[in-house]
Amino acid sequence: MSSAQVTIPTPLRNLEIKYTKIFINNEWHNSVSGKKFPVFNPANGEKICEVEEGDKEDINKAVKAAREAFQLGSPWRTMDASVRGKLLYKLADLVERDTLILSTLESIDAGKAFATSYFGDLPGAVKTLRYYAGWTDKNHGRTVPMDGDYFSFTRHEPVGVCGQIIPWNFPLVMFSWKIAPALCNGNTVVIKPAEQTPLTALYMGSLIIEAGFPPGVVNIVPGYGTTAGAAISHHMDIDKVAFTGSTEVGKLIKEAAGKTNLKRVTLELGGKSPIIIFADADLDNALEQAHQGLFYHQGQMCVAGSRLFVEESIYEEFVRKSVERAKKRVLGDTLSPTTQQGPQIDKEQYDRILELIESGKKEGAKLECGGGPWGDKGFYIQPTVFSNVKDDMRIAKEEIFGPVQQIMSFKTIDEVIKRANNTTYGLAAGVFTKDLDKAITVSSALQAGTVWVNCYITMSPQGPFGGFKMSGNGREMGEYGLHAYTEVKTVTMKISKKNS
Ligand code: ADP
Ligand code: MG
Repeated sequence: MSSAQVTIPTPLRNLEIKYTKIFINNEWHNSVSGKKFPVFNPANGEKICEVEEGDKEDINKAVKAAREAFQLGSPWRTMDASVRGKLLYKLADLVERDTLILSTLESIDAGKAFATSYFGDLPGAVKTLRYYAGWTDKNHGRTVPMDGDYFSFTRHEPVGVCGQIIPWNFPLVMFSWKIAPALCNGNTVVIKPAEQTPLTALYMGSLIIEAGFPPGVVNIVPGYGTTAGAAISHHMDIDKVAFTGSTEVGKLIKEAAGKTNLKRVTLELGGKSPIIIFADADLDNALEQAHQGLFYHQGQMCVAGSRLFVEESIYEEFVRKSVERAKKRVLGDTLSPTTQQGPQIDKEQYDRILELIESGKKEGAKLECGGGPWGDKGFYIQPTVFSNVKDDMRIAKEEIFGPVQQIMSFKTIDEVIKRANNTTYGLAAGVFTKDLDKAITVSSALQAGTVWVNCYITMSPQGPFGGFKMSGNGREMGEYGLHAYTEVKTVTMKISKKNS
C-alpha cells in the first residue's frame, strides 16, 4: 500500500446514500417493526442516514427466502458450478467498477482513512470474490477404496442456509470473506452487517441483483447484535453460522447453536498477538512492520501486534525509534488523501481505549507518547506508545483495539516463546530475525493460526486464516476455507465384483 507513488483519486464527498433498506429476495424491504436506526460518521459524529432496523421477524423472512432458494430443483441448486463462478466473477467486476463509491462509503461509515479503504479494503474484497469464483467447479469429491464389493465416492455438497454475522472494522472485506466461499459451494446466505457499518453491505445488494444472482441466494439484514444477530444464532432453520467479532459474543454464538439445532459454527475472534524482534533482525523493516502491524486502521484489527517483545540489547533504541515513527503518523479528515489515521469507530470503543491507556499509566508502564484524545471532534486518539510494559498489566493482556503499542523486553528464546504463548488468544504472531533456525524454532512453537516471519499482516485470499485457542474455531480463506461451507456425503453402491 505505497500510496506515496500512486495517485489517489478524489473521494466522492457528496455521495448520495441510495441503499438503506433490508435486502431479501433481491428486493428492498422496510423492517417489519417499522423501526429504523441511525448511522453515524465517526470522524465528526454527524448522522449519515437512517437504515431499516432488522429484527427477529425480518431474519425469519430472510431465512425463508434463503431456504426457498436452496430447495432441490431451484435455479440455484440446478445451476452449473461454473456458472456460479461466472456470477461471482461478475460481482467482483462490479465491485471493482464501483471502487470509488464503495471506498468513499466505507470511509465515511467506518471512519477509515480513504487511502486505506481505496488501496486496502477494495482490492481485498475484489480478490476474495475472484479467488472463490475460481473454486466453484474445483471442489472435487473422491472415489473411496471401500472394503468389499462396493463402489464408493464422496460428494462435496453445500451446507445449506448460512447465517453470517460480521464486524465493523473491515465491513466490505468481511462481507466478501463470508459470502464468497458460501456462494462458491452453492449455499445461500443471510448476512447481518454490524450496526455501526451497514452501508457497503447494503450497496452490495444492488450489485448482487446486477450480477444476476437468483432471488433469495443472498439476503442482507442490517440490525443490532442482541436482536437480529441473536435471531440468526438461535434460528432453527439456519444450517451454519459464521461469525467474526469479539470472543465474548463468539461464546454466545456457539452456546446458541448448542441450545438450538447444533448448526455448524465457525468463529474468528479477538487476539493479543505477539511480535518478537531479535537483535539480529533488519531493524528498519521490523520497526515499520511492527508500527503498521499495530497502528493500521487505528489499531482496529483482530491481528494487531499489541504485544511487542524486543530483545534486550536493542530495546532502548527500538523504543526510541518506535516513538519517532508513531509521532509521524498523520491524523485527520478521513476523506483527505494524505490521512493515515482516522477516528475509532464509536464512543464505546473510544472510552474503552482511553480507559485502558489510563490503566497502563496507573500500573506503571512508561507512556512514551500520545495517551489521550486528538482533535476537537470525532473519536480520534493520539498514537500511543508504552514502554516498560510488564506481562501482567491490563494493556499487555486485554485486547485494546486502538492505536496503543506495548513494548516489552526479553532475554532468551525460551523465555520469549513462553511469554508470547501465555495468553488465552492465538490468532497471529510475528517473528523478526535473519537467523533461519530462530525463525523456524519460534514460528513452530508459537500458538497462533498465522505466524508472519519478517513481515506482518500479509494476507491474501489464498492463505487460510483463523485462530488457535479462544481466537476462534475453523479456518476461512484458501482451500481450507471451503471446508466450512461443504458437507461431505459418502455414497456407497453394492456392485457384483470389484477389481483393484
Ligand atoms: P464489538 O463489541 O467490537 O462491536 P461484537 O462481537 O459485539 O464486537 O460485534 C460483532 C458483530 O456481532 C456485530 O455484527 C454485532 O451486531 C454482532 N453481535 C453482537 N452481539 C451479538 C449477539 N448477542 N448475538 C449475535 N450477534 C451479536
Ligand atoms: Mg460488543
